[in-house]
Amino acid sequence: MANTQESTPTKTRKETLNRPKGTQDIFGNDIERWEYVESLCRLQFQNAGYQEIRTPAFEHTELFERGVGEGTDIVNKEMYTFEKGDRRLSLRPEGTAGVVRSFVEQGMSRWPKPVKLYYMGPMFRYERPQAGRQRQFHQVGLELFGLDTPAADAEVILMAMRLFQKLNLPNLSLEINNIGTPECRERFKSNFRQHVEPHLATLCEDCRTRYNTNPLRMLDCKNPTCKAVYAEPDIKTFLETDFTSEDCQVHFAGVIQILDALKIPYRRNFYLVRGLDYYTKTVFEITSTNLGAQNAVCGGGRYNRLVEDLGGPETPAVGWALGMERLMALVGELPKRDLDFYIVTDQHAVAFELADALRGQDYKVDVDLSGKGFGKQFERAAKLGARQVITIGEAEAQNGELKLKNLQTGEQFTHKTAAFLDQV
Ligand code: ATP
Ligand code: MG
Repeated sequence: MANTQESTPTKTRKETLNRPKGTQDIFGNDIERWEYVESLCRLQFQNAGYQEIRTPAFEHTELFERGVGEGTDIVNKEMYTFEKGDRRLSLRPEGTAGVVRSFVEQGMSRWPKPVKLYYMGPMFRYERPQAGRQRQFHQVGLELFGLDTPAADAEVILMAMRLFQKLNLPNLSLEINNIGTPECRERFKSNFRQHVEPHLATLCEDCRTRYNTNPLRMLDCKNPTCKAVYAEPDIKTFLETDFTSEDCQVHFAGVIQILDALKIPYRRNFYLVRGLDYYTKTVFEITSTNLGAQNAVCGGGRYNRLVEDLGGPETPAVGWALGMERLMALVGELPKRDLDFYIVTDQHAVAFELADALRGQDYKVDVDLSGKGFGKQFERAAKLGARQVITIGEAEAQNGELKLKNLQTGEQFTHKTAAFLDQV
């Protein structure tokens, strides 16, 4: 086989005609499962008063720079950005910035509060593809605008937990933390720096940078040496005695109280800070030990400054996003939709009319289109796992009748079509 990579930098025709690295085709059995889960999400959200919002898959790059945060990995390294004229545009790496942009642009702050929205769709991040990490992946997300109450936080967390319970996701754990307001974090900065300073030389490069730019982010460093430093008793105690204001602590206690009362298990993780800059007060993450290294299914929190940062009126908000690919990896057997009727026929106009009527009653119906003999058509029906086969030949069509055969029992009856439709 020619090694085109060594001999020439141009890709072979075959490679470039395949899907790009880090993307997936979702089809066959998978798409049935995806559609099932997506409809369950829609139903759950709609039942609780959340309305779908569909925003563009690309936005002005500045929106993400401001909305996600200029110091974040997403903005620094992971965006697909392109230029058109004097515009810089980026494929959306996450959903919240676009939803907030739309909230402001469409004047939703004048709607009755709270404004409850959900979205679903593809997101794009230029990351190293690996298990659980793709370049195009899908998120389902939920945002609640206009209230700064513990009950609002509790409701959105509950929406995620109930969805996952409904889907029987295994080995889930909800981790939750309070990271306070930007003012709390100013206090945190100076205190934390004092605590870590003696260890600075042992920390990783990223953490040494974050020490200057954003010390809070040092806490979720994955480097074992850094982790050990931040687990030292004095630092642990500092984190656990809560660096946040009393107001933030009262708010957080209110959230916890509701979770306790509903017996939703959670773990307070003092090191959970999340990767984005916009969070305030409550942050949380839902992980599963069944997922391997990329174990987060869902992450979110409160973001009380973002609407204002993006040019809107002061509006508190809280929300989360889940990764569909990771969610689907955790979802077990789902109910499959059987084929209720297969219509064996050489009288297509009549067959289509009957199929329309049955589909109108929510039956799943397939009409044979092959023009082959009825024996072959029956074989196809069996292969598709049809429960019943309806035969409409010339005689049946003329008499307004149909033959109905139950493929499980082998029973066969002739019915008047009109009567059959009345009693089916
Ligand atoms: P991670 O821990 O994987 O880095 P994150 O903090 O970057 O996650 P968020 O921005 O909070 O993720 O996005 C919410 C969810 O979207 C994640 O919990 C995860 O399930 C999913 N997700 C994020 N990035 C990817 C990706 N590159 N591929 C697949 N799923 C992803
Ligand atoms: Mg990430």
